[in-house]
Amino acid sequence: MPQETAVQQFDEAAKLLNLDQNLIEQIRHPDMIVEKNFTVRMDSGEIRNFTGWRVHHSTVLGPAKGGIRFHPAVSREEVIDLATWMTWKCALLNLPLGGGKGGVRCNPGELSRGELERITRRYVQEFHFMLGPKKDIPAPDVGTDEQIMAWVMDEYSRIKGETSFSVVTGKPLGLGGSQGRKAATGKGVLYATEFILQALHKKLDGAKISVQGFGNVGSHAALFFHEAGAKIVALSDSSGGIADEQGLDIPRLIIYKKERGMALAESGLGRVIGAQDTLVADCDIFVPAAIEGVITKENAHTVKARLVVEGANGPTTPEADEILRSRDIIVVPDILANAGGVVVSFFEWQQNQSMASWTEEFIYAELKNRMQNAARNVLDVAERHSVGLREAAYMIGIKRVAKAVSQRAHDFKSGNGVLYKDI
Ligand code: NAD
Repeated sequence: MPQETAVQQFDEAAKLLNLDQNLIEQIRHPDMIVEKNFTVRMDSGEIRNFTGWRVHHSTVLGPAKGGIRFHPAVSREEVIDLATWMTWKCALLNLPLGGGKGGVRCNPGELSRGELERITRRYVQEFHFMLGPKKDIPAPDVGTDEQIMAWVMDEYSRIKGETSFSVVTGKPLGLGGSQGRKAATGKGVLYATEFILQALHKKLDGAKISVQGFGNVGSHAALFFHEAGAKIVALSDSSGGIADEQGLDIPRLIIYKKERGMALAESGLGRVIGAQDTLVADCDIFVPAAIEGVITKENAHTVKARLVVEGANGPTTPEADEILRSRDIIVVPDILANAGGVVVSFFEWQQNQSMASWTEEFIYAELKNRMQNAARNVLDVAERHSVGLREAAYMIGIKRVAKAVSQRAHDFKSGNGVLYKDI
């Protein structure tokens, strides 16, 4: 399923942009796809083989930027999709960065910290030739965290024989990490939602929200919505979910998870529901913040929310997108809604380059500014060209990359005379 989603979304936007055929050929395909098998010694003494990938989709606007995912379902196609989305996301947010992504097919839930560390270091040993502060800068994604980023930084620094903070973002604060990075994606989800609601003359205060996923993105987004006066009426992680029409106690749930490692359904708070029931919850806003491909043509007609804010990457298939549109459900696309993470990763990278340390207050103000500018731009293009928010976001991102390709080329020749529609 994946891969096709990113390609279909690109093709649709390229058509709307009237994008030159020669430009399409240049930017539609990933620059580099590397797959490696490597072995790691497990705690039991057994040697186990793992498969890992790193993909550079585009480095036209700057070094590749994108997370490392540890998950049992990671595949070549998934990593390509995720790298592709990073290209358009960075371009949409006007960041001097390209798109990349990486992953290892493994189940972090079944691995000890020592095993995770050895997998991470082996990953860096295998892919270090693709990485670098001016080449490709990884970050956390599903199944990876700031400790894993610290190991990436340490292993890369060992290989290079120098301390390289700026090779990776999402690091711990004492190791060149940035204030606000951990919560940045959730904060960005909040800012994007606030902006879109304002444009719709609606309020976040009192809104009923359902969130799928209670990891980095889902837990922070839920907390910020809760603090802004919204009610989180349903919440799920991979083991199950809970619901409460009066609103769940998010700060308490975060403490339960952090201090006791408790699954949502074991918390004793709210009514127990299934992991997928957040999708059909009675709410105003649905925030998928877990994995891709969860809103499909089979279930899109059961979504009750009037607004879907994509905290996860690629949670809606193209067929489901059509169904949501036909039902007048507005979708805030992933490349806008969850861009807060890469924006603050960019700030972290900037701080590392100049050995600076910015305050959280400054970082959130800058993040808000960038998220609002991007959201304004998307709304404006959507309105002027009568397209959905996703198409508008893609048109902006793709056009920026296409423009840079034509400007960087020595002697770029158009295929049909016009490079792209002026948007
Ligand atoms: P994470 O590993 O911290 O959390 C993932 C959560 O999803 C967990 O709570 C897990 O239990 C839950 N989950 C998995 N499958 C599920 C299912 N079928 N139903 C319900 N819950 C399920 O990952 P994360 O960093 O929060 O990333 C989540 C999504 O956001 C991914 O799509 C990721 O690519 C995207 N994203 C993350 C960042 C970031 O900064 N971490 C930035 C941008 C986008």
